[in-house]
Formats: sequence, C-alpha cells, structure tokens
Amino acid sequence: MFNQRIKNSCNEKHQKGLLRHTHEFSLAGNRIKDQKSTQNYINFSSNDYLGLRQSKQLKKFHHQGIEKYGFASCGSPLVTGRHDAHADLENTLCDWLGYPSAILYSSGFAANQALILTLMQNKDLLLQDRLNHASLQEAGSLCSAKMQRFKHNDYTHLSALLDKESTQKAEGRLVVSEGVFSMDGDSAELPQLSQICKAKNAWLMLDDAHACGVLGNDGGGSCSMHNIHPDILVVTFGKAFAGNGAAILCSQELAQYLIQFSKHYIYSTAISPAQAYALNKTCTLIQNAHQEREKLRRLSECLSEHLDASIPLVSTQTPIKPILVGESEQTVKISQLIAQEGFWLSAIRPPTVPINSARLRLTLNASHTEEQVQALALAINKAFDKVKGG
Ligand SMILES: *Cc1c(COP(=O)(O)O)cnc(C)c1O
Repeated sequence: MFNQRIKNSCNEKHQKGLLRHTHEFSLAGNRIKDQKSTQNYINFSSNDYLGLRQSKQLKKFHHQGIEKYGFASCGSPLVTGRHDAHADLENTLCDWLGYPSAILYSSGFAANQALILTLMQNKDLLLQDRLNHASLQEAGSLCSAKMQRFKHNDYTHLSALLDKESTQKAEGRLVVSEGVFSMDGDSAELPQLSQICKAKNAWLMLDDAHACGVLGNDGGGSCSMHNIHPDILVVTFGKAFAGNGAAILCSQELAQYLIQFSKHYIYSTAISPAQAYALNKTCTLIQNAHQEREKLRRLSECLSEHLDASIPLVSTQTPIKPILVGESEQTVKISQLIAQEGFWLSAIRPPTVPINSARLRLTLNASHTEEQVQALALAINKAFDKVKGG
C-alpha cells in the first residue's frame, strides 16, 4: 500500500512538471558548484542577503565560539543545553529589537510551529495572510483553533473577518503576517495592520525572516523601518545572519509560558553555544552593515536598468526580485538557459507559490558586483527571448 501510494504521488508530480530535485553544491564566495555537472555558477538564489556567509569576520566568530564552548549543546535548554552564550544572544536581541524577552529555537520552522501550537486553543481564531510561509500555514492547520486566511495584504478582508459575529465570540484572536513575503519580496502594510489588530483586540504576530538585517537603518527589520511593535516577533538566523536557528521576541509572560509549555523548546536540543556566540557577534555586525544595505539598493537599481522592459520583474523594496513567468515548465526552461550562462536562479513552482504563478526568485546579495548583476540581466534577457520569442 505505502509503495503504491509513494509511486503514484511522485508520478503525479512528475507529470505536472513539478518534480523537485536535490543538488549537491560546493561553495566559494558567491559562487556555487554543482557536484554532478561540475559547472560553476554565480548564486542568485541564496538568502544570504548581506553576503556574510563567507565573510572573514563570521568565520572568526565561529572559530572563537568553538574554542570557547566546543561545538554542540548536547542537551535541551531546560536540562543542560543552555549556556551563557544563549542568554547573551537573547539579551542582545531584546536590546536591539526592543522586547523584554527572547527565546531561541533551533529553526524558524520550529519557532513558528511552537508559538502557534502552544498559544492557540480550540475556542480561538487564527487569521493568516494567504501567502504566509508553509511553517505558519501548517501550524495553523495542525492547531486546535479555527484558522482563516485573508487575501494577501488585503486588510479590508482581514477587518471583515475580524468583524464577523462568530469571530467576536472567539476567545483569543491572533493575526499572523510576514514582514517581507519570501516569494514575492513585497512588504506587509505594517502601520495599517498593526492599527487594525489593536483596534479589533487581536494580537499581531510578525514573521520577519526576510527583513531582519536587511530593512531599517539599524537592520532591525520591518518593525524598525515602520516603527511598529507587534505582540510577537519571529526572527530567523538562516537568512541575513548566515547561520541557523531563530528567536521569538515577546513579553516576559508569554516567554515564561513558552518555556513551560512549548514542546519544540522543551524536548529539542538547544542550538550550539558556539553558534549562539557567533550569532551574538553577528548582531553587532548586522546593525553596522550600512554599506551592505546601501550596496543592495545600488544592485537593485542596476538590475532594473539592465533588464529588458518586457521582463516581468516585480518591483520591490527588498533584495527579493521575483520574475513572474506563470507556467511551470517554461519557468524551469528559462532557469536552465540562465544556468548555461553561469548563473544559478531557481525556478519556484506550485505548491510553494499559487498555481500559474511559477517564477524565478532572484535574490541579490551584498557580495554581488554590479558587473555580475549586469551579466545576469543580459542572460535573463536572452533566455526570455529564446523561450517566449521563439
Ligand atoms: C525561512 C523561513 C522560515 C523558516 O526558517 P528556518 O530557520 O529556515 O526553519 C520561516 N518563515 C519564513 C517567512 C521563512 O522565510
């Protein structure tokens, strides 16, 4: 039975042109090498927005962390896995991002699941932006509260849902949005969203995975840029921080509740103290990364300048630059042609994005040069000409 089901499901994906492939990459600078083809690409699909992954400073922080703590934590935080490095990182995040408490999790996926599954109970209502990350959507379907999804960034729709009589009866109401949406690179209208939640007595949870480090003068992300303060803020270290793990920032009371009840915290190995040490130092680096953030703005202009006007590039204020193609197979074809020119630009297909909105998700990072971006733009123009033109 299982074998049959597995085979059928994979065949179906294949027929729809949606089969996913793994690659083994080796990395150097902003280049990646596919071990199978041994071809070398400039990576335009990484979330390393500030280009820190290969920075000398980050490597030094990690070496120092390992010297000081060894590698792993070898325990959950409530047993023996929590070190002073974890506490230091939590304190730094609190000071920087303006919250009384921060709790570390081993990944953003775990943090989102932990918060929603621990907080939401069966008389509550969870309202999510339709384009929220899979970790949030999945937690929403697994939790015992009722979940409804509002149209992307459509706060008239959200308000209408919050005004419904059945909603009024809900005990707790939680609204969840991303600060910057990972596949679209657009931002939530945060002042408006924050105001609606306050007015309608709902808590706001913001997942700022793609904005922390990138937006705001101090790299503090969407909240720092828009001067808002959601009840719950999630930041992840897998993107601009070039590390692993995540943190939930919140009130002392909620933090205490999570420590008591969130299984992802209690029953999971704490992130490595060496990593916590390095991340703590990275926070300072990121707060001062003004040049990198400026560079991203320049690269963004450079990209728009050199792409043909006919390329369906979505204009964004972030380093995420989606090129909306629509049809999945065509998107893969274009991505392959661009790869032949030496650029890695992943095709993103349903179900990661809505049907008929397959896209190339181009991400800029501060270690790219203007020459590289210009050359990429020419490769994109050429690939589109070939696929769309002929
Ligand atoms: C990447 C991402 C996550 C998951 O974080 P990991 O640390 O990679 O598990 C959660 N939310 C959003 C919006 C993300 O982009």
